[in-house]
Amino acid sequence: MNSNTSYSKWYTILTYHTIGDYKVILPAGINTSVEVFRSHMDYLFRNDYQVVPLDEIVDHIIHAQKMDRKTLAITFDDGYEDHFLNAYPILKQYGFPATIFLTVKYIDGYWKSEKAKNGRIKALSNDQIVEMHEGGLVQFGSHCYSHRNLLAADEKQRIFEIRNSKLLLEKLVGEEVLFISYPFGAYDEGVKDIAGKTGYRAGFSVWNRKPDSFSIRRIPLHTRDHLARFKFKVTPLYTAMKSILRFI
Ligand SMILES: [Zn+2]
Repeated sequence: MNSNTSYSKWYTILTYHTIGDYKVILPAGINTSVEVFRSHMDYLFRNDYQVVPLDEIVDHIIHAQKMDRKTLAITFDDGYEDHFLNAYPILKQYGFPATIFLTVKYIDGYWKSEKAKNGRIKALSNDQIVEMHEGGLVQFGSHCYSHRNLLAADEKQRIFEIRNSKLLLEKLVGEEVLFISYPFGAYDEGVKDIAGKTGYRAGFSVWNRKPDSFSIRRIPLHTRDHLARFKFKVTPLYTAMKSILRFI
């Protein structure tokens, strides 16, 4: 990666985790209720936001082009069954494209979640992934193989997590998987380097001060992002303030 390359800094990519009406779910802050998620999408629709596929935003970032302030992309991390049951029908209703980052080990299985019903949440199945893929609205990226923190993994484990997840997902969806989001948003230069050499086009985290094409930042949303707060979080002002004040 050329350190002199300049990347566009002003862009909006939203990221969600579970979308559901769970009573209690842990870790706290990962869930967005169906009603709140619908209100977010409805706001974007009514206010003429252009929701575009993630690769369009990546093109702008890589070519350091200015983005229209009302253009954004939607992503989901982990790959829960509720992405298919709850989020997908709403995305279809508004015609909004999205990218789901899948952790391969959990496909067709369960995520552990303290306090959730039976201590677990169902992950997406192969069939649900294929159905969404064939629908044309949802793209898939890698969220690594086992969701381990890459900062705590050695070189061999990192390569396994980053490369095997790509190969297995490509087999499942039948096309190249070009994007990766790092579990817990955790990465370093070594992780970015492996992702680049493995053939990914871009890597996604949550927040960082010096984004480049392998540390693209996203805005996390959850159920406490009622409409007034959501409106603020999709403005360039939020991104600008966040780059000065980390705690917002
Ligand atoms: Zn995750």
